[in-house]
Amino acid sequence: MARPRQIARGIELFPARTPTLPPATHTNSYALGEREVVLVEPATPHDDERRAWLTWARAMPSTGRAPIAIFLTHHHPDHTGGAAFFASELGLPIWAHEATAARLPDLAIARLIRDGDELTLDGPRAHRWRALHTPGHAPGHICLHDEESGALIAGDMVAGVGTILIEAQDGDMAEYLRQLQRLAALAPRLGLPAHGEPIDEPVQLLGYYVAHRKMREAKVVGALAPVGSAGDRIEDLVPVVYADTPALLWPLAGLSLEAHLIKLEREGRARREGERWAALG
Ligand SMILES: [Zn+2]
Repeated sequence: MARPRQIARGIELFPARTPTLPPATHTNSYALGEREVVLVEPATPHDDERRAWLTWARAMPSTGRAPIAIFLTHHHPDHTGGAAFFASELGLPIWAHEATAARLPDLAIARLIRDGDELTLDGPRAHRWRALHTPGHAPGHICLHDEESGALIAGDMVAGVGTILIEAQDGDMAEYLRQLQRLAALAPRLGLPAHGEPIDEPVQLLGYYVAHRKMREAKVVGALAPVGSAGDRIEDLVPVVYADTPALLWPLAGLSLEAHLIKLEREGRARREGERWAALG
């Protein structure tokens, strides 16, 4: 894989190996801007990959570019594994949402990015990226949208390879679905995910993600024991709800199933009794 790769005017892609969720093996970093540059996803914890990443960032002045900040889409380790190292090596501030900062107490976050903030990057052509707070996968998740070009830095909202895990600890299934729909309504024309290839028809993919989760939710509702019964444990439900998924992935599927159940519980459609879940209504 040739690195870096020019994706569009003012957008460069640099995938680096990370300990991420299989089948993905890499996290995509992006350099945004034609003179002032923001580096998105300082992800890799591996020495050899960090050296390659630094070489990439340090070569930017030779093409008239100057990195001004490092940007975190969210706090997960396969997105922030190089943040402290790159910030100190390059002398750059780190920007992130406050809910991301709260989860990374050892990292100095110089600027808290809020929903609606505009990041303007000066250059031969200025680039304006709008920050969108999109919780659901992670509480502090931020996407960046360039209305002019239609590009969307999607972080872990969608992926070009593998799947996005929504689990009960960091995630919120209802919020995730709301934010997917919000992103689709912006009608982005190019999706740039943290994992996998650029997405040419992001609106279609966002719609597919929503439909897929709703299909899964319908299966959960269909599988749930009726109210008044002893109820089901998550490990009893997984083989039914995820019959179409390799058993190898069932432990992860169980986490996602729990997020679905919590959504149903909040909507008054499921009830938890200790470890057991039953349908309501
Ligand atoms: Zn993540």
